[in-house]
Amino acid sequence: MAARIIDGRVLADELVTRVAAEVGRLIQDHGLEPGLAVVLVGENPASEIYVRSKSMKTVAAGMRSSTHKLPDSITELELLRVVQQLNGDRAIHGILVQLPLPPQINPHKVIAAIDPAKDVDGFHPLNAGRLAIGLPALVPCTPLGCIRLAKTVHPSLTGLEAVVIGRSNIVGKPLVQLLLGENATVTIAHSKTHDLPAVTRRADLLFAAVGKPEVVKRDWIKPRATVIDIGINRISAAGGEKRIVGDVAFAEVAEVADAITPVPGGVGPMTIACLMLNTMRAACAIAGLPQPDL
Ligand code: NAP
Repeated sequence: MAARIIDGRVLADELVTRVAAEVGRLIQDHGLEPGLAVVLVGENPASEIYVRSKSMKTVAAGMRSSTHKLPDSITELELLRVVQQLNGDRAIHGILVQLPLPPQINPHKVIAAIDPAKDVDGFHPLNAGRLAIGLPALVPCTPLGCIRLAKTVHPSLTGLEAVVIGRSNIVGKPLVQLLLGENATVTIAHSKTHDLPAVTRRADLLFAAVGKPEVVKRDWIKPRATVIDIGINRISAAGGEKRIVGDVAFAEVAEVADAITPVPGGVGPMTIACLMLNTMRAACAIAGLPQPDL
């Protein structure tokens, strides 16, 4: 039987609608309009698409959006000054510096310069540390979205065997922390893992954040597992067209899994919706207001 498709677009639209309703209340009751600033350095076409769609969703959620396009040649010091200026801007509650950055700029230094209260990407070491020790934090949007998608299938993740392939700071590691917080039993795998298919076959919940097209095959999957595909890979299809695929061989895995996210239309839209959620949460926290339960 074919797996149930977890429709990230529909779920993301629902979340943005709920965020927009809360934003309406914040504006009406407190005169608080959450604002998101996105900083884009250089002319990476993929980054430009992401930034445009983040800006459109910000406006759709009723929030203030500002995009700062900076030249590829910008120095680290100049970029740090832009971040400082946004840190001090009272109309801005979320700051996102789109990665990757050009080679003359140390991304760790830039991330560390963002006010942790406005760090809606959740990459600042303070937020990463708070997440790791179980304190409230701004949490990276992609892992946050993955948990929300998994919970549409399993409202409780307690006791489930979860395997995460990938140990990056922006996806794999924070995802593991969130899963531990949900009482899942977690294994994190990576390029040095021995016999990866044997590890993934244990998973009730499998998360693939590898960055390699369709590496996860049918025989890597425990029957009836839930599969969340985080990968975004551009491949050349027949006729020279470019196509986006995930890290999971979707058609064959869907024959064994119970539920699966498509690429595109799974984790991607949910990531952007979670950015809206984080921006609203950051605005509430900065204003000393309680966090709406969304
Ligand atoms: P990354 O920093 O390149 O990390 C990839 C991870 O996969 C590393 O831990 C690496 O292991 C592991 N890996 C690579 N090849 C492997 C293999 N053959 N077997 C097992 N593990 C392997 O990538 P990332 O930033 O986490 O992103 C991962 C994917 O998610 C990319 O396709 C990216 O585009 C996508 N992504 C999507 C969203 C979204 O919104 N949907 C957001 C962020 C990222 P080592 O640590 O040993 O090198």
